[in-house]
Amino acid sequence: MRVVLLGPPGAGKGSLAGVLKEKFSLAHISTGDMLREEIKKGSELGQEIQTLITRGALVSDELVTKLVAQRITKGQDLKKGFMLDGYPRTVKQAQDLDEILKKADLPLDFALNMEADSTLLLKRLTGRRVCRKCGALFHMLNKPPVKSGVCDACGGELYQRTDDNEETIKARMQVYEISTQPIIEYYTSQHKLKELDGNLETIDLANAVTALLK
Ligand SMILES: [Zn+2]
Repeated sequence: MRVVLLGPPGAGKGSLAGVLKEKFSLAHISTGDMLREEIKKGSELGQEIQTLITRGALVSDELVTKLVAQRITKGQDLKKGFMLDGYPRTVKQAQDLDEILKKADLPLDFALNMEADSTLLLKRLTGRRVCRKCGALFHMLNKPPVKSGVCDACGGELYQRTDDNEETIKARMQVYEISTQPIIEYYTSQHKLKELDGNLETIDLANAVTALLK
């Protein structure tokens, strides 16, 4: 199964990705992770990306498409299927993706769209903390660390990503809304869109997604 994950920041795409990996053995292709890797490398490209993200803006279509095409062409781990997370963000990218997948003979099965209440999204996002050392995720509401500010797994320091503050999040949500509506229409016209409730917690989500994809 090959799917695209759609949903605003904080709707629970991370949880959904976990369910799809565990129950359907899908490989997780996250453009966010690929971009963060570039930032971590400290390359010129990485610095450029960091500036854009801090402003709440998006990285250019061409650049992300190139990363995705590379990943899909080289991917030996994609036989059981995969999920794309963070891509496409525009109709142009959706069209490019169709081309890439057609060439690789791996056409898309579904686009899963998660919607959630905006107040809930803000609460979820501003509470997020990340381990500086191992990348483990915590949440002040849902998954607080045993000791405040310290990673349970490795003892590393927890921090709030610079793109997790309220102003940046609101900007990201707005950008998301405007750019995603046409993508939802694109997949609706292909009869590939499936809707999931992003207000659900992880266990309900597992049941919901299993029922939906059966
Ligand atoms: Zn850690």
